[in-house]
Amino acid sequence: MVVTPHGHAFMIDTGGTSQGTYDIGTKVDVPYLLHYGVRKLDFIMLTHAHEDHAGGVGGILQKIPVGTVLIGHEGVANYRRTFGESPAVRRESMTVLQEGTEMTLDGVRIQILYAPAENKTGSNTGNEFSNLIRVSYGQHSFLFTGDLSKEHEAILVQRGTPLASTVLKVGHHGSDTSSSEAFLRAVKPKWSVISVGYGNSFGHPREEIISRLHRCTGSEILRTDEQGAVVFATDGEKLRVNTQIVYDDKR
Ligand SMILES: [Zn+2]
Repeated sequence: MVVTPHGHAFMIDTGGTSQGTYDIGTKVDVPYLLHYGVRKLDFIMLTHAHEDHAGGVGGILQKIPVGTVLIGHEGVANYRRTFGESPAVRRESMTVLQEGTEMTLDGVRIQILYAPAENKTGSNTGNEFSNLIRVSYGQHSFLFTGDLSKEHEAILVQRGTPLASTVLKVGHHGSDTSSSEAFLRAVKPKWSVISVGYGNSFGHPREEIISRLHRCTGSEILRTDEQGAVVFATDGEKLRVNTQIVYDDKR
């Protein structure tokens, strides 16, 4: 979630569970938005259609107004499958994010640095379609990678895409299919945030990625499985970070 200086708000990915077994949209996302006084979203921007990134959209659409849902090149049907079948989902229009698009909201700059339109593996959905989104304000910037893979990272490094960012959302939950050395050196983050489920069955994050982050970036590493919600606040110059764990014993 990003909140701008005058209270506009948007989300980049929503979280979700792999089989859609837990409604993160209504049980986590919406209460969290309301906690910050956010009663509507200008838009939700998605890196790709997998449940763990887009699974919360259905629940959010049922509870609060959303301007528009911005998606990758995976086809609307793949997204609808992830969002579920509620009337709110069926009513919602979606717009495909185009690479090179830029917008500014209250001085917050949003850049779509990458939006792959085709996939060499032949599949029409998945990590290979991850969009790369950069949000910046003043001197600070945040890079949202989704599950962008090393092959795509290499394309971006080779193109010389300006990747340098203050904060990196580490690709694919700290899996070794992402976070190549060259990519990490190009981003040069001061903070690396790994969004990862506590005790997940994938073995994320990989030990090797943690040591690569230390070696290639020297950044401070924050993990949502250990620190809970990671919140950054900036006036464009100073940057403050807070972490908090909220226990939900009803889960
Ligand atoms: Zn993922």
